[in-house]
Amino acid sequence: MSRVYNFSAGPAVLPEEVLKEAQEEMMDYRGTGMSVMEMSHRSKAFDSIIQEAEADLRDLMGIPSNYKVLFLQGGASLQFAMIPMNLMKNKVADYIVTGQWAKKAWQEASKYGKANKIASSEDKTFSYIPDCSDLPISPDADYVYICENNTIYGTKYKTLPDTKGKTLVADISSCFLSEPVDVSKYGIIYGGVQKNVGPAGMVIAIVREDLITEDVLPGTPTMMQYKTHADANSLYNTPNCYCIYMCGKVFKWLKKMGGLEAMKQRNEEKAKLLYDYLDSSKMFHGTVVKEDRSLMNVPFVTGDKELDAKFVAEAATAGLVNIKGHRTVGGMRASIYNAMPKEGVEALVAFMKKFEEENL
Ligand SMILES: *Cc1c(COP(=O)(O)O)cnc(C)c1O
Repeated sequence: MSRVYNFSAGPAVLPEEVLKEAQEEMMDYRGTGMSVMEMSHRSKAFDSIIQEAEADLRDLMGIPSNYKVLFLQGGASLQFAMIPMNLMKNKVADYIVTGQWAKKAWQEASKYGKANKIASSEDKTFSYIPDCSDLPISPDADYVYICENNTIYGTKYKTLPDTKGKTLVADISSCFLSEPVDVSKYGIIYGGVQKNVGPAGMVIAIVREDLITEDVLPGTPTMMQYKTHADANSLYNTPNCYCIYMCGKVFKWLKKMGGLEAMKQRNEEKAKLLYDYLDSSKMFHGTVVKEDRSLMNVPFVTGDKELDAKFVAEAATAGLVNIKGHRTVGGMRASIYNAMPKEGVEALVAFMKKFEEENL
């Protein structure tokens, strides 16, 4: 067996400990004689799995008791529609567009009502977070929407926008559980789990209870109403059982690692290794403004497409894989999520130094 350092933006690296545990439990989950994949979602064994997963997530994030935790399918992208369908009572919402995911969410919301783009960083290829201290928030906005960490461009909000009292909705797919978060500042905080938490195929939506009502847009499918899933504790229909099981293991791993404060420190140390090198390099450059740099996704370029391609190819040969940048940014992107060990980032920086010496 040989493992690589996987810098993919998602689906992404998972903790080896978690993978090994899942491997050990594959054929016979704790005396049930079956794998979690073969198990009824109404079984006692699965009931413990989903309940423990929720309890551990609540514990990790300090989720207040007036928030529901929903394990949903359709990925983060289905939330782009579910959010307006459930929240757009006035049919008005304000969107801050800081990247492709925010843009897609805004475009989707436009199908259901008036989705105002109140700020954007598209003028400079989404390389910064706009000033959100005094935005033209619509008086009748049902919510203000952000994508908190921009996976493709590598920017992150360091302070939340002033929503002037309106409900804040945030997509945290690529910074989920990377650092402590004050859930009470949000109406909905949600993320697809395949970036920083688990396997693909699920989104976790943490929704304040007063936002979960029957008063949804006409025609909203039953499966797309938060109330359906909240009332059934995420077991209205068959959920993504195996994904919930894997996420639960990651939650336990995070707790063992010291929780989100410890993860933040670890993530800052890892990111600093890479950013410090980028700031000193004569060949490689970061692509976003320093103040808005993400701890999770680090895009960089040499400025020469052929050299970029050579770097990506040689890195892969050295066991540093999935480092090619998104097609809209070009160059490289290293995603250094929770499960990426510090040694992985050290190996990447050492490889970049060597490449720089050989090719400058
Ligand atoms: C990956 C990603 C998405 C899309 O997730 P899916 O689960 O594939 O729908 C949405 N938002 C952000 C910030 C992402 O990184």
